[in-house]
Amino acid sequence: MNRRSFVRKSSLLAAGSLALPQISKSHNPPFSAMPVIVSTWDFGKAPHEAAWNAISKKGSALDACIAGVKVVEADETNHSVGIGGYPDRDGHVTLDACVMNEQGNCGGVFFVEEILHPSELARMVMEKTPHVYLAGQGAVQFALEQGFKKQNLLTTEAKEEWEKWCKQTNYKPRPMDEKNHDTVGMIAIDKLGNLSGCCSTSGWAYKMHGRVGDSPNIGSGLFVDNEIGAATSTGLGEYIIKICGAHLIVESMRNGRTPQEACEAACLRISSKYKNYKDFQACFIALGKDGTVGAYSLNKGFQYTVTTNGETLVYDAEYLE
Ligand code: ASP
Repeated sequence: MNRRSFVRKSSLLAAGSLALPQISKSHNPPFSAMPVIVSTWDFGKAPHEAAWNAISKKGSALDACIAGVKVVEADETNHSVGIGGYPDRDGHVTLDACVMNEQGNCGGVFFVEEILHPSELARMVMEKTPHVYLAGQGAVQFALEQGFKKQNLLTTEAKEEWEKWCKQTNYKPRPMDEKNHDTVGMIAIDKLGNLSGCCSTSGWAYKMHGRVGDSPNIGSGLFVDNEIGAATSTGLGEYIIKICGAHLIVESMRNGRTPQEACEAACLRISSKYKNYKDFQACFIALGKDGTVGAYSLNKGFQYTVTTNGETLVYDAEYLE
């Protein structure tokens, strides 16, 4: 994929001991100049440029995260977020997203069809309804009331892939390998030190119709506490939900761990409880109140992107071995 070819830099420090309960202090990049924008994977330069433009023009951290995530949602070439996302096993592209801001307010949409920007819709749920979540047809109805237009999100390429999968498999979701998970989670801290985040996905390719993962769930896919930090996730949502991943990380930070240590602790929580942890991926990024970044994954292959001082770099995350 061409988005993997953009600026790349390996993390510099080696992993230390990972035995429970000790957490390696291995990887703590010095990104302390605010604003800082961090996102999962390498979705190319454009999302971080959009986020950086928003935050540099005195947009809030939430404005920046949504601006960045919307670029990924509108990009047909990725098959894991927004238009072009692989459908569920019945051929429907169903989207999940959530947002959380510095005031501790949040919104999410689950299982939304034909709406290009579920991230923006999640913000509207937060700002314009008394609720936190809207799902399915109710979310679509709300979107239309807010002026969103329906559009087909199943591209020819994704449809062809799904049709091939229908012939080849025993009607099971596609295994979650490196090519089959790529949620965008973006967290940011602005110049004033305010934190927010946004997470958006089309979920597990060829999932059962109605399946929802971690990504729109506050506490699993995203959590922000403006006094402490923010965290977001990608990977096999079922396991991230089981440990309330993003909330766990922020609470670890509250208890004194650095963002890096907290991400490692979340992976260790998964590996200590689920012995099949080598068979799937779970990945976390975190941002502390001081602008410090952490990232870690269960298994090899996770990358994350950081912008600070206007410079965007992609890092290979450390992982559990
Ligand atoms: N976490 C997402 C889900 O389980 C998938 C991903 O990150 O690719 O829906």
